[in-house]
Amino acid sequence: MTGSLAIGVDAGGTKVVGLLVDVKADGKILDRRLVETPATDADAATRTIVAVARELMAGNDVTALGVGAAGLVDLGGVMRFAPNVAWREYPLAERIGQAVGLPTLVDNDANVAAWGEYRFGAGRGSNDMLLVTVGTGIGGGIVAGGRLFRGAHGFAGEIGHIIVEPNGPLCGCGNLGCWEQVASGRAIGRLGKEAAREHPESLLARLAGGDADHLTGAVVTAAAQQDDAVAIRILAEVGRRLGEGIAGLVNILDPDVVVVGGGVITAGDLLLGPARQAYIGAVEAPDHRPDVPIVAAAMGNDAGAVGAADLAVMETTGPHAVARPGSRQPAPFSEER
Ligand SMILES: [Zn+2]
Repeated sequence: MTGSLAIGVDAGGTKVVGLLVDVKADGKILDRRLVETPATDADAATRTIVAVARELMAGNDVTALGVGAAGLVDLGGVMRFAPNVAWREYPLAERIGQAVGLPTLVDNDANVAAWGEYRFGAGRGSNDMLLVTVGTGIGGGIVAGGRLFRGAHGFAGEIGHIIVEPNGPLCGCGNLGCWEQVASGRAIGRLGKEAAREHPESLLARLAGGDADHLTGAVVTAAAQQDDAVAIRILAEVGRRLGEGIAGLVNILDPDVVVVGGGVITAGDLLLGPARQAYIGAVEAPDHRPDVPIVAAAMGNDAGAVGAADLAVMETTGPHAVARPGSRQPAPFSEER
């Protein structure tokens, strides 16, 4: 019989958040830790995760550890490439697992967030769910038939890098016009800067303190919430691009719900309203298919760590444990700082 306590860690580019979670009590969070990420040093970043996990383990009967981190994580828990931390071809699950002595699962941050929302949040009761996380970029996680869909190598769900505008804005991945360049917080910020220069009298420009270069997506949302027509138009434009992209993904995946999370969700229906409208206009044969609700995520920033904890218990322990292909033998891991 597996215990119900697990640790979930969200290892971001600026901070590591660790949660002690009761996975059998609706993912209830019992304790939490937050530490800055030493992002430029791969081993130091790993040691930070280990330290956070050990603190949360102390005095508790913990069953497993799950970690979510941005990047390409293979099925053996090797971080092939992390955009924000210096992990390259790095056996993250093995190193953390050896150091903490717990069954350890490492997966992509959006995958574990999808699992969290599916189990305990806005996707509860669904069987086939798509999570679209819209922050600076766009991430995705897919639950298909009640299971996290990872693809052949673990890299499925990287939905932000579909090219939707050839010769569009340059993306961090090296391509031009990826979806995340036209439908994310970055797009809201870029359009906001352009608009503030064009309309210096607008509330948007005034909220930016007359400095269009430093205008962010959050300023656009704040202006839109105060009925600034320019800002509302920007959110509607980005929402339209978001909804069109979701329509394409619904054509492929046929989910029963689409959950939209990430920082831009603070814009609420100013973004999701136009997204829903564009979705209906773009999805194949909308009159001949059940409605697919496009809803806001429910768990905020905790979805990833809670999902990682639950996934770790499910996949590394008990009767449903998944045999994972072994990763390459890691070099000895130094505990010294
Ligand atoms: Zn890209």
